[in-house]
Amino acid sequence: MNTALANAEEALLVERRHLTREEVGAVAAVDLAELPDLIALAHKVRLAWCGEAVELESLVNAKSGACPEDCAFCSQSVAFSTDVDVYPYMDQDAIISAARSSRDAGATAFCIVVAVRGPSERLLDKVVESVQRVRDEVGLDVACSLGLLDEAQAERLAEAGVKRYNHNLEAPRATFPKVCTTHDYQERVATALLAKDAGMELCCGGILGMGETLEQRVDFAFELAELEPVEVPLNFLDPRPGTALGGVTPISAREALQAIALFRLVLPGAAIRLAGGRELVLGELQALGMLAGANALIVGNYLTTVGRAPEEDVALLESLGMPIAGPGEGMFVIESGGVHVKAAGSERESHEIR
Ligand code: SF4
Repeated sequence: MNTALANAEEALLVERRHLTREEVGAVAAVDLAELPDLIALAHKVRLAWCGEAVELESLVNAKSGACPEDCAFCSQSVAFSTDVDVYPYMDQDAIISAARSSRDAGATAFCIVVAVRGPSERLLDKVVESVQRVRDEVGLDVACSLGLLDEAQAERLAEAGVKRYNHNLEAPRATFPKVCTTHDYQERVATALLAKDAGMELCCGGILGMGETLEQRVDFAFELAELEPVEVPLNFLDPRPGTALGGVTPISAREALQAIALFRLVLPGAAIRLAGGRELVLGELQALGMLAGANALIVGNYLTTVGRAPEEDVALLESLGMPIAGPGEGMFVIESGGVHVKAAGSERESHEIR
């Protein structure tokens, strides 16, 4: 085995310690011809630090489109002319109905996602009402993804019983200004920290393939690790027509597999969740994605793109011999029959998770 890989294996599996930036840099420099060895190492690290179970989660976009921010990848931004669905915050009963359907199908938690810079007080009132009703009437854990928060908003959500807050950094610090000009990287970090300080679990990842170098990708993994998230969603850019990144060539499957493995080595104990763009980028290699260190999946549709059928992912995991996390171990648990949670009446397109 390559020396850098052998050193990483010794550190993570024998010494049971985290790798330094230099050690991961050395692994990233290993030729892609040795990718099978890197994948094998990442899978061993995943098993040793996280176990065999895979978390499956579905997303509900409770308010879509017309976002004032200008994130270059996002078809929900008003800065771009796209065919994304635009609708205000869903009717409360429709949200409860969606949560009930999730629960009846085996889900243990429900995630409320809205496309905004950050919640207005009026929107927050509605979300808090949804959170309380889902908890009281449906009995599910609730996660939220509402954009930038201030301290009082984070505390209000935590007090309302929100278990996990998703707020991605989206891109490495060095490239973020090319991805978004209406807010900055530090604002995203601040919200991630506020969510944690308020007592919510942090879900924080990003989108790969937006022009970052391999070195910047490694830096990004370390920037995320500093925040100590319990979950890291990895999206791969699925260029949306009409957005600023609509003409970008997606990264190759081999680059994506290398990135998944590197993120696992940097974040050995976090849930690494494969999310938007995985079908586009990995194609027939979905199984290798799960063998490269990932231990969680977004199933069904994403926020603005259509995913493959959850049943396919359930079958894939069965064929890999990977058990699906049970109640209390993950969000939106999918049982053998499969669960597909989406906003009522919507077959919308979406791609990233925020
Ligand atoms: S990624 Fe989020 S904040 Fe950025 S434009 Fe899209 S919905 Fe708005």
